[in-house]
Amino acid sequence: MKFHYICDRLPKAIIINKYCNMVSYKELGLVNTREMFAKAVKGGYAIPAFNFNNMEQLQAIIKACAETKSPVILQVSKGARNYANQTLLRYMAEGAVAYAKELGWKRPQIVLHLDHGDSYEVCKSCVQTGFSSVMIDGSALPYDENVALTKKVVRYAHRYGVTVEAELGVLAGVEDEVAAEESHYTKPEEVIDFVTKTGCDSLAISIGTSHGAYKFKPEQCTRDPKTGKLVPPPLAFDVLKQIEKKLPGFPIVLHGSSSVPQEYVDIINTHGGKLPDAVGIPEEQLRKAAKSAVCKINIDSDSRLAMTAAVRKVFVDKPGEFDPRKYLGPARDEMEKLYKHKIVNVLGSNGKAK
Ligand SMILES: [Zn+2]
Repeated sequence: MKFHYICDRLPKAIIINKYCNMVSYKELGLVNTREMFAKAVKGGYAIPAFNFNNMEQLQAIIKACAETKSPVILQVSKGARNYANQTLLRYMAEGAVAYAKELGWKRPQIVLHLDHGDSYEVCKSCVQTGFSSVMIDGSALPYDENVALTKKVVRYAHRYGVTVEAELGVLAGVEDEVAAEESHYTKPEEVIDFVTKTGCDSLAISIGTSHGAYKFKPEQCTRDPKTGKLVPPPLAFDVLKQIEKKLPGFPIVLHGSSSVPQEYVDIINTHGGKLPDAVGIPEEQLRKAAKSAVCKINIDSDSRLAMTAAVRKVFVDKPGEFDPRKYLGPARDEMEKLYKHKIVNVLGSNGKAK
């Protein structure tokens, strides 16, 4: 009784903080995806969703976005939470907002997003600790169970202004602890029912993208006779078109959209690494997707490759080096270059968060 009495008379943020042991993303200077996605769909570009697990990745992302004035989604996967701790990552995101301002980005547009949330409880704990967006991935469940779980998460998250990404269809590949043998394209005939019933804010679809650095088996690809490299099968733009027709203006998300730059694969392979036949989604296809209702493109493997290539190069060129700053520094520079390239040349999100 006393609690409700106090709650009725205090601003919501204070109530949340002091009495409910909760942190609102707004207090951390973060934003949700609502306005960001609406602008992206209208403007024909996509927001980068970069995963982060450590300080160097985060610094590279924020520097690239501050310099290009690109809105950004910082993604935290299950693997990242296990590796770096959810609380620490949340504080790092809060620090990222302050860092962005220090770099001269007056109004940073930064989302802290849970990638592949696999339960209501995980989504709830992220909402409570300051995430501004969560994904509930019920794509492996039967349709009705996916609807029920997504709806439950949406109802909770929306109470706090947190936006929710859902998924229909199954992506192949391995990403942290998300793995599937085969992909199943999203069925366009299901999307209206799913979005209406769940109230989700964006929808991850499966049109042939795939998680990880080995997106396609050699037998799914053709081989370039000149370079001997694999050429992946094209994305199913016809399925995307049908989905767009069913849900005009609704934000669509592409997972597993690294392009696996061959220059990084080559550096890795010539510096003691072994990544045979690693292949990704060609950037021109992602560029085409970004111009459509696809307004969030997830990129994780490419930054891992940039980091690994840079670190391997230092280890081979300077075998006496043992100061982590001397190999993580170049890795950070390489990632920053990669992020800027994606923002400016693939997604077109530069200058959209001035
Ligand atoms: Zn994913």
